[in-house]
Amino acid sequence: MIGRRLEVAAVHLVRLATGDDLYEGLTTFVTDAGITAATVTCLGAVRRASLRYYDQDLHRYDDFVLDEHLELVAGVGNVSLLEGASFLHLHAAFARADGQAFGGHVNVGTEVFALEAHVTELRGEPPRRRPDDCTGLTLWG
Ligand code: ZN
Repeated sequence: MIGRRLEVAAVHLVRLATGDDLYEGLTTFVTDAGITAATVTCLGAVRRASLRYYDQDLHRYDDFVLDEHLELVAGVGNVSLLEGASFLHLHAAFARADGQAFGGHVNVGTEVFALEAHVTELRGEPPRRRPDDCTGLTLWG
């Protein structure tokens, strides 16, 4: 187990514009704001969701797209450092008109219809992602 204590520095309320890319938009916000450690939540709606599923046996991501209008029911993520740059890790659940839900690791290619995010900036030594041989992922070291 690895634990780290940081303190809340600020809470940023962010709204992305219709047509923005969810992943790239939030990444641009945290990068431009110089945020290297944060928790992220978001909600809204998308025109298209581009997601990934990590295959734990094969240690690779399988990408898939939900090319339809969806509610972004719940997005949760964090910001840490990867190779010296701010890195957003974001998962989200999306729902259709009948409430059926899907989710995954948010990839580039998710088109925003409306998006409100809360980025809680943290002060202190930011977590740094390092390759993890056991999982094949880059995890907090
Ligand atoms: Zn993930």
